Amino acid sequence: MPPTIAPPVARSRPTAGGFATGAWPTVLGVALIALLITALVWRTGTDGSPTGLVHLYYLPIVYLAAFVGRGAAATLAVLAGLAAGPLMPVAGVIDLARLGGQPVGEWAVRMTLLVVVGVVVAWFARQQPRSPELVLRDRRFARALRGAVASGRVTAHFQPVIDLADGRVVGVEALCRWTDAAGRSIPPSEFIPLAERTGVIGVVGARVLDLAVREAERWATGRDAAPSVAINVSAAQLSDPGFPAELAAVVAASSLDPRSLCLEITETAIIADPQAALATVEAARGMGLSIALDDFGTGQSSLAYLAEFPIDIVKIDKSFVDEVDRDERTRGLVRAIVDMAEAIGATTIAEGIERPAQLAALRALSCRFGQGYLLGRPCVADEVDLSPRRFAQQVPAQRGAAARALDPR
Ligand code: C2E
Ligand code: MG
Ligand code: MG
Repeated sequence: MPPTIAPPVARSRPTAGGFATGAWPTVLGVALIALLITALVWRTGTDGSPTGLVHLYYLPIVYLAAFVGRGAAATLAVLAGLAAGPLMPVAGVIDLARLGGQPVGEWAVRMTLLVVVGVVVAWFARQQPRSPELVLRDRRFARALRGAVASGRVTAHFQPVIDLADGRVVGVEALCRWTDAAGRSIPPSEFIPLAERTGVIGVVGARVLDLAVREAERWATGRDAAPSVAINVSAAQLSDPGFPAELAAVVAASSLDPRSLCLEITETAIIADPQAALATVEAARGMGLSIALDDFGTGQSSLAYLAEFPIDIVKIDKSFVDEVDRDERTRGLVRAIVDMAEAIGATTIAEGIERPAQLAALRALSCRFGQGYLLGRPCVADEVDLSPRRFAQQVPAQRGAAARALDPR
């Protein structure tokens, strides 16, 4: 039976405070509906004809749509629509003699209108306030980024992942880079969120996947144990039902063993659409790819995801690694993450190792793999150093089923 996944935090909706905090689309939507209601009440409230009071049904529907959501609004709209047929007052009086006497067509139109209003207001209520300048800036940005992908100015750097037991390079992570028209290098932290917002992330992700697979093929040539290659997957890709097919096509067109590819996903990306994310992750796993949970411990961490998602690797976020050699509590947390990962059959990669003392602490905590400037900075594919690193002292290798995700020896 597929697991049921409930996001730990409900998707944010405007609360009553939404009006006060400037959720102007909600205010605008509600104001428009209020105007419509007034106009309808005004127009239809003449003697003998059905009174416009029936349009007051819109008020609770609009309220539910704005503050609870589409489902509640649609339910009430249908109920109101049904009631508005037989129980529609004429000239302010509910005339039971008319029960069922409504022309069906009129009744259906009224009900459809109520539902449409509920859905439209709910949609408005979910929009984030955005200024016209921001919209224009996003458009310019999207055009520039698409142009950069088309002209090959979006590339990837690769950072080695090291086995902390023996210093071998077991993998590399592909990290996106954008050189703009002026030759400046724009870091992914600046353009990935914008690429997500403007929908350009699809072409960026496809470009990085293509580059990563090409380099992985090259590294695999003539090597018994080629490094696996990890790519970062955005929330939009993770919840895109077409992404697994795209992935399958790229893998099929290459000579690469899919087991040497890894998808790095984040908790934040999962939360965007947990069911769709699970479908993507299971499809990728079915093809043979491994799955890493990136930046672990920084998102809206929910252990439910560890239980419900097939995760092979937990990447311990740099914020823990920063203090692991200095702070006893952080050390305890890292130990707990390593144990937890082991308990679910996953292995761990520590991110952002910069100092020898951090490396020593992580090795002592049995963290299996590591990444960071100390072990190798991200660089162009040709410059990645795949030779084993030498450590001052050897720590006994702690092999387990989990470590095989990165090291199938
Ligand atoms: P991430 O996947 O957690 O990648 C690790 C980031 O930490 C990289 O930053 C890397 O250059 C940096 N890093 C590695 N070792 C060290 C270290 O020892 N010290 C310090 N200070 N930093 C270190 P980068 O390349 O700027 O990427 C930032 C984030 O952007 C990535 O975090 C990832 O979430 C996202 N990203 C990068 N490439 C892609 C991509 O192709 N697609 C998507 N969707 N996201 C990407
Ligand atoms: Mg990553
Ligand atoms: Mg990370």
